[in-house]
Amino acid sequence: MSNYFVVVGAGISGATIARLLAENLDTPIVVIDKRNHIAGNCYDYTDSISNITVHKYGSHIFHTSNKEVWSFINRFTDFNEYMHKVYAVVEGNLINIPFNFNSLSQVFPSTLSKRIEEKLLNNFEYGKKISILDLLSYKDSDLIFLSNYIYQNIFVNYTLKQWELSPEELDKQVTARVPINLTMDNRYFYDKYQGIPLKGYTETIRNMLNHPNIKLHLNENFNINTYCDAKHIFYTGAIDEFFDYKFGQLDYRSIKFKLETHKTEYYQNNAVINYPNNYDFTRIHEYKYYLNEKSKYTIVAKEFSEKFVLGKNDRYYPVINNINKDMYMQYLNLSKNINNITFFGRLGDYKYYDMDKAILRAITIFNIYIKNNITI
Ligand code: UDP
Repeated sequence: MSNYFVVVGAGISGATIARLLAENLDTPIVVIDKRNHIAGNCYDYTDSISNITVHKYGSHIFHTSNKEVWSFINRFTDFNEYMHKVYAVVEGNLINIPFNFNSLSQVFPSTLSKRIEEKLLNNFEYGKKISILDLLSYKDSDLIFLSNYIYQNIFVNYTLKQWELSPEELDKQVTARVPINLTMDNRYFYDKYQGIPLKGYTETIRNMLNHPNIKLHLNENFNINTYCDAKHIFYTGAIDEFFDYKFGQLDYRSIKFKLETHKTEYYQNNAVINYPNNYDFTRIHEYKYYLNEKSKYTIVAKEFSEKFVLGKNDRYYPVINNINKDMYMQYLNLSKNINNITFFGRLGDYKYYDMDKAILRAITIFNIYIKNNITI
């Protein structure tokens, strides 16, 4: 066995573990990625005409309540103080998403919205978050009216477009990501730390990988035979692909972005506007808002969800339902027989991680590996 590590995938999970290995163990690390760029789906670039930073794989907003994660990423980038807000077009009007007390008065006449607000506060504490599927189970007539309204106008059609499944057919945590907030707080995330890296995600990941112990191989498909002598392999690629789809393919959703450059200062009045019911796209991103970039152009991306098809498009979202969870468990059990490879990250764990959770998971994997294998 040689004295080097392999990290498969140069996204946020792979870059985190590579950096931790590089600075804590004096051992060479080879990071390989099949794409021609680092940063995985966080990849961003500067558009040459407008100078606007474009998130190639859709909007990424960093948010976390975990101090360790926040301190870690801040070693590689500074952040601005951006706090994400989202609007949705509902019955032709812009309303705040997640649905909150402000949204209530945006969609209903004031006597009705006041009555529903009182009813909500009689049943729940101010500040509580309720998932749409939980709200649907309340039997009070006003709450039935409200939950049906929100379900019909915000969740069902968006979810059908995004997943080709109804909210009930998905794991509950997916729609619970966008709860009903019993507050006047219009932010999309309530985490303590939020922002956009001042020089972008690609630059942040580049800084993470910039260490004398790390060697980067882009445009390389992982082949176990090339690296069978590695001390350990940290694999952040798709676990089903690694095992040659022995138990079948895990489902993913992919996205197609239709990018448009407009010679106007702004196209819409917010970074993201959702279209739950109209059009075939789910939302429109306008990238210049994230870093408050000034340009006489603007770039927007219309987001179309589609099924992931091997060889045709990229994996974005694991489709968490019982069939896929069972299939993933079969792969996980198989992976336990191999003691020099660890699988993690969105594709390795088959989990819908946000960026902060991906970093936390990589830190945890590193700590477990050190505890079991090395004394430093
Ligand atoms: N969702 C919805 N309507 C919305 C926003 C979200 O129905 O206006 C549901 C939809 O099922 C979506 C899920 O909530 O896939 C999670 O949304 P989130 O914004 O967290 O997705 P992401 O930003 O990760 O794509």
